[in-house]
Amino acid sequence: MFRKLLIANRGEIACRVIRTARRMGVATVAVYSDVDTHALHVSEADEAIRIGPPPARDSYLDIAAVVAAARQTGAEAVHPGYGFLAENADFADACAKAGLVFVGPSPESIRAMGSKAAAKALMEKAGVPVVPGYHGDDQNEKTLAAEAKKIGYPVLIKAWAGGGGKGMRVVERAADLAAALAGAKREAASAFGDDRVLIEKYLERPRHIEVQVFGDRAGNIVHLFERDCSVQRRHQKVIEEAPAPDLDAKMRRALHDAAVAAARVVNYVNAGTVEFIVGGGKFYFMEMNTRLQVEHPVTELITGLDLVEWQLRVASGETLPLSQDKIGYHGHAIEARIYAEDPERDFLPQTGTLNFLHPLIDTAIVRVETGVRQGDTITPYYDPMIAKLAVWGDGRAAAIKRLSAKLGQYRVAGVTTNRDFLLRIAHNADFSVGAVDTGFIARHRQALAAPPAPDAAFAAASHALLAGEQRRPSADRFSPWTTRDGWRLDGAVTPTIRWRFGDKEYNVAASAAAPEEQFDVVRSGDRFTVIDNEGSWQLDYVDPFADRDDAAVAGGRLTAPMPGKIVQVMAKAGDTVKRGQPILILEAMKMEHTIAAPADGTVDAVNYMVGELVEEGAALIAFTAAEAK
Ligand code: ADP
Repeated sequence: MFRKLLIANRGEIACRVIRTARRMGVATVAVYSDVDTHALHVSEADEAIRIGPPPARDSYLDIAAVVAAARQTGAEAVHPGYGFLAENADFADACAKAGLVFVGPSPESIRAMGSKAAAKALMEKAGVPVVPGYHGDDQNEKTLAAEAKKIGYPVLIKAWAGGGGKGMRVVERAADLAAALAGAKREAASAFGDDRVLIEKYLERPRHIEVQVFGDRAGNIVHLFERDCSVQRRHQKVIEEAPAPDLDAKMRRALHDAAVAAARVVNYVNAGTVEFIVGGGKFYFMEMNTRLQVEHPVTELITGLDLVEWQLRVASGETLPLSQDKIGYHGHAIEARIYAEDPERDFLPQTGTLNFLHPLIDTAIVRVETGVRQGDTITPYYDPMIAKLAVWGDGRAAAIKRLSAKLGQYRVAGVTTNRDFLLRIAHNADFSVGAVDTGFIARHRQALAAPPAPDAAFAAASHALLAGEQRRPSADRFSPWTTRDGWRLDGAVTPTIRWRFGDKEYNVAASAAAPEEQFDVVRSGDRFTVIDNEGSWQLDYVDPFADRDDAAVAGGRLTAPMPGKIVQVMAKAGDTVKRGQPILILEAMKMEHTIAAPADGTVDAVNYMVGELVEEGAALIAFTAAEAK
């Protein structure tokens, strides 16, 4: 076993790898960009080294900088985590050239599986079923249109180099193909530097089932059972579980066998995941991820194995610790990904400082994988995941129950998260019986939408406001003139407090008594975040004496929801637009976000051009709603 390991990553996965390395007596080196100087993974590692400025391409994606850091610190091996350079064959090559062990597969395996198109061709040859579609070299629009027609709509466009759902577009009809192709290619070019796409039949209501595989240098390949990752938004996973619920034994065995066969085709060494799409009693190969997966904890929870330990052992030349017949599983595990994102705004990533974070206790059956602490900031530079909560139960129902309980206890403020949304999934009747497919979230949109804030939340915020006012420091704490609880000689009056929640305002008669429920109330300026086991509500105190910018409240401008770059402008000053009509496209966090007209009306001005960078809150468009005229 090597003595020193550099982790070429950040956040929770860096912390995760460090934990196992430490247990195995391997010293750890963290790398960090300037915004991560004080990040958790830096303090958890034995030593840390700066690799560059915040943008990933100048730090975590800078191969030369990472390799130099490893050499400078005397690391013998490099663990890439997932994302960043984890599936970059050039990086694996560069490590080898520098005499470093890359904790991953060979560069050849990475290359063979790196392109979704090439991987599909390879699997077709090996007799593993693939989703019907076109994955040829000819990228001519006419060819792609003809192929899409042949496949039959709806079709799915995917980037060859794809990952993270980038460059993916569902197209329902031929008339929409050209625009979708342009968008997919633009997104793929910017995310991967490669705009080639493939087209697949878009399967309705399939399940995403993937198989964890492991190979060693002696040519042993095993599987560690499957995970169901069907609960997705934007084609990206939010809840994963193992084993897959309600999967018949024959199909399960066939999936395991196909996954091992796929790994064998590329002489696979290391942890890998073969992803399948399952529907209509059939399964199809989607892609192979040649790295440790975000959701590996659910596999660890049911098998009792440490996949990072296996990775380090295999990378240092040992054979797999267990043969297939010795690998079993017990119970059921579920992971929920807690993201800084707004489910009410199409899961738009959010940024901000976690001014409150109530930590959960980590146990053998409740794992909280995180890379942040209270006070840390979710920046636009990296993935907005805050934590993964993975729980085990002796059955699926027990696991769901534990998931709900622990999600309820996981409390953050300062940035909008999907915690409450995850809770509503955990409570959903269809989810509880395992009726999941990739359309689950879209289909249950209404049932999963945030309910109105309960009266008790307003009461809790009002109470906190009054209590805070009373606690305001003053020269004479005991003077009756400095208390501001509304006490009067002729009896109590109930102050009325005005709150804004979402786009509405509420008058609340505040009582000085604390509400009975267990709320956490976190104040940041005029914003009060009220949290309990069921939900969190951001209430803004409306100061009756402050000047109010009613024009801004009523709209009139469309602002950038996050910092980004304008990639397309579809309207100009003077245009009459319909509600929901796309006006411009902002690229942020490597994804495209469409800014649409909030109502029928007229565009008065478009303030930015294609290619311009905008700050969060920048006024993109001046707009007059039809009824406001
Ligand atoms: P990425 O690598 O960008 O994450 P994947 O190829 O893994 O993209 O696909 C992401 C998700 O998109 C899948 O989990 C599945 O839900 C959905 N998906 C992919 N291919 C298809 C398809 N042919 N039909 C329907 N859904 C699909």
